[in-house]
Amino acid sequence: MRPEIAAAVECARQHAAARRPLVESLHALPQLLPPCDRSVLLVIDPGVAVAGDGAASLHAALADRRVNIFSAFTVTPTSTQAVAGALAAIASDAGVVVAMGGGSAIDVAKAAALGAAHPVDPAAVIEGHAAPRRDAIPMVAIPTTAGTGSEATHFAVVYVGGVKRSLAHASIRPAGVVMDAELSATCPPRVAAAAGLDALCQAMESLWAVGADDCSRADARLAGRIAAATIVDAVRGDADCRRAMMWASHLAGHAIDLSRTTAPHAASYALSALHRVPHGIAVALTIGHFARRLATMDERACVHPGGIEAVRAFVFEAASWLGSDAEGVVDAMGSLLRTLGVPDSLRAAGIPRASLDGLAAAADPVRLSNHPQRLDEATIAAVLRAAW
Ligand SMILES: [Zn+2]
Repeated sequence: MRPEIAAAVECARQHAAARRPLVESLHALPQLLPPCDRSVLLVIDPGVAVAGDGAASLHAALADRRVNIFSAFTVTPTSTQAVAGALAAIASDAGVVVAMGGGSAIDVAKAAALGAAHPVDPAAVIEGHAAPRRDAIPMVAIPTTAGTGSEATHFAVVYVGGVKRSLAHASIRPAGVVMDAELSATCPPRVAAAAGLDALCQAMESLWAVGADDCSRADARLAGRIAAATIVDAVRGDADCRRAMMWASHLAGHAIDLSRTTAPHAASYALSALHRVPHGIAVALTIGHFARRLATMDERACVHPGGIEAVRAFVFEAASWLGSDAEGVVDAMGSLLRTLGVPDSLRAAGIPRASLDGLAAAADPVRLSNHPQRLDEATIAAVLRAAW
């Protein structure tokens, strides 16, 4: 790893540790748990629960607590699954939720922790029919993939009838985080690639997001530079790069916790929900095309408070992480996807061309409104066709 990237990783680590209770070994998990005699609801990826040293260390760390396990959720978690998690927490009188796994496990745990604080009707809060009146049960996150940064954010994505719903509440930001790079050692390459791409894209989008500020942009810059420099070797199993990606993804999570994401994320949710494209890959398949449009957009389409010149500078900077400029960003991202061995177009990802208009119409309006360029449905459809 280049010395400047190693220095950036150390900087990322210090930034993160200064902001929230955090330990760097699963053995130290008990330090993060509130002292109480109520039980622990352990929300754990079904795969993680049965494989690897992580599960054994986890059970050792929780040996003196009453633990109930919840693993009944899928990669694209549904509100029904989150409600089941909430009911499990209520039934077991859980005083804390511990989530171990990828972004899905952490998102389900967040939704369940908030739902469990509303025992009369957890589904109403999780599905958005009622506003939360109480804080979620405290939660500790143990990410096992370097990617979503969900352990640093105050939102959770669940799907209600195939439609993405982003739950947002300050109390679902995890109260503690275990950042143990050993836990991602057994992550399959395709999962690691998708997770790493999510971190990289989150950093890129956070840089140009309407909602960004200087602080979130500092996080995004550090995250993006580290992620772009280490993702390929991290996916190939290099331990230092895997650790670097873990910090990059955590910092990208911090960045989007404030700035939120933009159009590539807005377009990605339907690709994941309807066509099972892994989240990070779904975002990466369109981000180069959205970026290139940003660099050449008309002044009148710009909704960024910094104006069109600022947006161009952000696009140029994000492209530079990939060793590219704004013109070459589509090719640079395509080449990265091929190097990682994942689909490099919507077509290769199995999306039927006939579905592109419907996918454009399904883009998430909240994330779209945070994109620096005003985009109508026809323009999004054009982006999807270019990415096909
Ligand atoms: Zn994402």
